[in-house]
This record gives sequence, C-alpha cells and structure tokens, in this order.
Amino acid sequence: MHELSLIASVFDILEEKTREHGASRVTAVVLRVGRMSGVVPDLLESAFETYKNGTLAEGARLTIEVVPVKLRCPDCGGTSVREDTDFSCTACGSRRIEIVEGREIVVEKIELETDGA
Ligand SMILES: [Zn+2]
Repeated sequence: MHELSLIASVFDILEEKTREHGASRVTAVVLRVGRMSGVVPDLLESAFETYKNGTLAEGARLTIEVVPVKLRCPDCGGTSVREDTDFSCTACGSRRIEIVEGREIVVEKIELETDGA
C-alpha cells in the first residue's frame, strides 16, 4: 500500500526532528498533499492512525492540506489553478501546460513537546 510506505517515511522525518530538537513527543503534524500525488487523503490518515501507536507521535493530531494543481502555460505565460482534472490553461485554453504544483507530498509543519524545563 502506497500510503503506508509514505507514512513510514513521514515517521522517519518525525523521529529525526524530535531528536534534533531534543523533544520527547510529537503533538501535531501537517501534511501538504498534492491532488496529483496519487495519494488518497483518507487512506493516508488511517495509515497515520495505525502507524502512530507506540511511536513518539502516539498522541499526535494529523492535518492534511490538499494542494490544488497549479499549471503554467508556456504559450501565454499564465498560471492556472485547477480543482478538476481538465489540465488546460484557463486563460488561452492551451494544453501545452506544465504542472508546477500539485504532485508533492510535504511535511509542512510538526509540533513538538518537550518534557521538563
Ligand atoms: Zn495559456
């Protein structure tokens, strides 16, 4: 399952950051998931819930931000944001477009908590 291996790498990042900051646990995680990333946010969330048990992020709250697809048009130089799957330039209708955003999966934010002083 794609989502589960993704979550495994997210947890690698969480562990690394927790260690780096000398924190004891993760309290919140924000992930940015592009609409074109091929990831289903619901599955990602349930993978997170399953995976977090017994880890530093056991009590963490997950927020998933879905990033719309952003296209750049080499013909007219315009930028379009599409919520649907019609990948054409909204300004000139060209289909010779480049996807500049919407394929990424990024750990946007991590909230950590430290025991003691
Ligand atoms: Zn265009």
